[in-house]
Amino acid sequence: MESEILSRLIAAFRSLPAVGQKSATRYAYKIIDMTEGEVQNLIDAIVDAKRTLHFCRECGNYTELLVCERCLSADKSTICVVRDPKDISAFERIGDYNGLYHALHGTLDFQKGINAEHLRIRELISRLNGVREVIVATNPDIGGELTATYLAQIIKPLGIKVTRLAHGIPMGGEIEYADELTLKRALSDRKEI
Ligand SMILES: [Zn+2]
Repeated sequence: MESEILSRLIAAFRSLPAVGQKSATRYAYKIIDMTEGEVQNLIDAIVDAKRTLHFCRECGNYTELLVCERCLSADKSTICVVRDPKDISAFERIGDYNGLYHALHGTLDFQKGINAEHLRIRELISRLNGVREVIVATNPDIGGELTATYLAQIIKPLGIKVTRLAHGIPMGGEIEYADELTLKRALSDRKEI
């Protein structure tokens, strides 16, 4: 019979996204094989991230500062709007974009009662001074499309160009998991909406 302590560790890993029983078991055994110093490093990294990171007041990405470095140093004529901070990481990996980001922390879903006021849309509107283009980079799923249409309706009348990532990311696909080339193309071939 499996030790209760081991089962507890495996169960803890299983709570992570995309980790099944097999991977969770591998991670648990790996931890046991590590030196105490290595384990402590891992624990410190987790605890530090959890204790220190919070949302940037401007863009909604994670930062240890009040306003993140990106918001301070970016080209402020373009804002790339994403659903979650993890989508920002996907764009950061391709390295082709120098503008601002804005995480909405969700997308519209009227059936679930998620309306504009539940998302960081008011915060987005308050950042548009001097912005010439808003790139809506929500996922190509129902909520992402609905949110893009909604944002275009309220932002275009302000005289600001609104664009949408080009197709290439399959319908229902996720930006977070898109490969770099696909994301690069989707960004450079973006279309006005
Ligand atoms: Zn920021």
